[in-house]
Amino acid sequence: MSKTNVKLLSFIALSVILLVTLCSCQATTNNTEAQSAQLSTTASDTNNLSTEPNDNEKDLSQFLISDDGFESPVRQYGTEEYININAGNLLAYITYPQGDLAEFDNECKAWVDKTLATYQTEASASEGELLITYNSYIVNENFVVVEFNGEYNSPNYAHPISIFKSFNADLNTGKVLIIDNILEAEEINKLKKYIIETKNLDENFVDEQLLDNWIFLEDGVEIVLEKGKYLPESDGVVKIFASYDMLQNKDDSINNDVVVEEKDEATPKVLNETEIENLENLKQDAQNIAKNEFSENDKVIALTFDDGPGAHTEKLLNILKENNVKATFFVLGSQIDRYPELLPRMIEEGHEIGGHSWTHRSFKKLSDEELTKEIMQTRAKIASLTGVDPLSVRPPYGAYNNNVKAVAKSLGVHLVNWNVDPLDWKTRSAQKTYNSILKNATHGSIVLSHDIHASTVEAMESLIPKLLDEGYHFVTVSELLIMGRGEIKSGEVYFSMRK
Ligand SMILES: [Zn+2]
Repeated sequence: MSKTNVKLLSFIALSVILLVTLCSCQATTNNTEAQSAQLSTTASDTNNLSTEPNDNEKDLSQFLISDDGFESPVRQYGTEEYININAGNLLAYITYPQGDLAEFDNECKAWVDKTLATYQTEASASEGELLITYNSYIVNENFVVVEFNGEYNSPNYAHPISIFKSFNADLNTGKVLIIDNILEAEEINKLKKYIIETKNLDENFVDEQLLDNWIFLEDGVEIVLEKGKYLPESDGVVKIFASYDMLQNKDDSINNDVVVEEKDEATPKVLNETEIENLENLKQDAQNIAKNEFSENDKVIALTFDDGPGAHTEKLLNILKENNVKATFFVLGSQIDRYPELLPRMIEEGHEIGGHSWTHRSFKKLSDEELTKEIMQTRAKIASLTGVDPLSVRPPYGAYNNNVKAVAKSLGVHLVNWNVDPLDWKTRSAQKTYNSILKNATHGSIVLSHDIHASTVEAMESLIPKLLDEGYHFVTVSELLIMGRGEIKSGEVYFSMRK
C-alpha cells in the first residue's frame, strides 16, 4: 500500500468514524426504518459541526404554504407587471412578466397591448370584463415559456370568451423561439398529422396557425388549440401533448399525458423507541463498515440530481437501489406534490434531499425576502413529507453572490454547486452523459445532472456499475463534505469534497 493510499484510507476511515459518532453515517442495511430515523438526524448533526453560530431551532411550519398556495400561478421567469383598468365600459386586470430578455418581454407585452385594444373596442359598444394572467416556466434550465390564460365576459355573450397565448424563448440568448427552432421539418409534419388524427380535425380547415400556440416541455411539446378555432366552442381550450420520443419515432405510444396524482397529507416522522434502538444498531454496523469496507483504491463521489422529482425519478431510484448506492436529490418545491411518494422513498433508501428553490428563479435576482421564501418554503415542504430538515441547497443555475451567501448563512443552510457538469440537459444523450461523467469525475467530485431527463437516467444505468468497477463509493453530498473537511458551514458554497 502506498503512502498516499494509506493516508487516503485513514482519512476516509477517520471521516467515517467521525460520521458514526455523529449518527450520521449511513450503513448499507435493509433496515429502512432505522435508516430513515438515522437520516433524520443527518442534516442537523452535520450542521452542529459548524463553527458558525447557527439557529437550528427553526419553526418550519410558518413556511409551509397552504394547499391553495400551490394553485397559485407558476412564476419562474421575470417579475409580475400588471395593467388595471377600471374606467369606461371595460374592467381589465392583466398580469404579464418582465424579465431580462428584452425581445421576449416586448413580444409578450405587445400581445397584451394588442389584446387589450381588441377588447377595449369590443367593450365600447356595451361593457365587458377582461381578466388575463400567466404562468412562466423555466424548462431544462435553458428555456422560458410564458402562457397567458384569460377570459372576456360580457352581457353580449352567453359564455365567457376564453383567451390563450404562449411564448417560448431561449433563456441564454434571449431569442424568441418558434416551433421550427426546436423540431425538425419531419417532426413538425408528424405533429400536425398527430393532432389532426387524434382530434379528428377537418384537414381543409387546418391552416398554418395550427402550431402557433405551443409550449416547450421537458419531454415533449404541448399544442394548444384556441377555443372555437379548430374545434367546437364547447370544447374550450384544448391542449395536446406530443412526446419527443413519439415525434422521433422512438415510441409509438400516443397517450403520454402526465398524470398528476392526488396528494396525501403527510405527517412528519417522529422516532419511536424501536427506531431509536435500530439507530444504535445502525451505528454499530457503520463502525464495522468503516473498519472493513474501504480498500486502498477507494474513491468517493457524490452524484446529484436537480429539478425533480419528475417522470423518470422513480426509475432512477430503482437503478440506485439495484446498485445499492446513494445519491443526493436537489428537488424543486413546485414539483414535489406531483410525486409525493418519491421523497419519503428517497430518505428510506438512504439518499439525501436538498432544496433547489421553489420556482427556479436565480437567487441573485431576488430580494432577501423572496430568497428566504424560496429556500424556506422548499425546506419546510421537504421536512413535512420526510421528517428531515434539509440544510443543503443547490441554487438554480448555480448562481450566487455575497448577499445570497449571507441570507443562506442567516437561515442555517449552505450552498452546494458542482465540479463535474456533463451538460446532460443539453445533449439529451445517454452516451454523451455517460462519457462526460466517466471522463471528468475524480475522487471527491460532485457531479451535476438532472433526473427529469430520460437520457440521464438511462446513462446512470450503465455508468453506476462502471464507476463501482473503478472503485468509487457513492456518498451523499453531506457525507462527502464531512469527509473532506470535517465540517459544513452555513452560508458557504461547496464545489467538491475539498473545494
Ligand atoms: Zn435546476
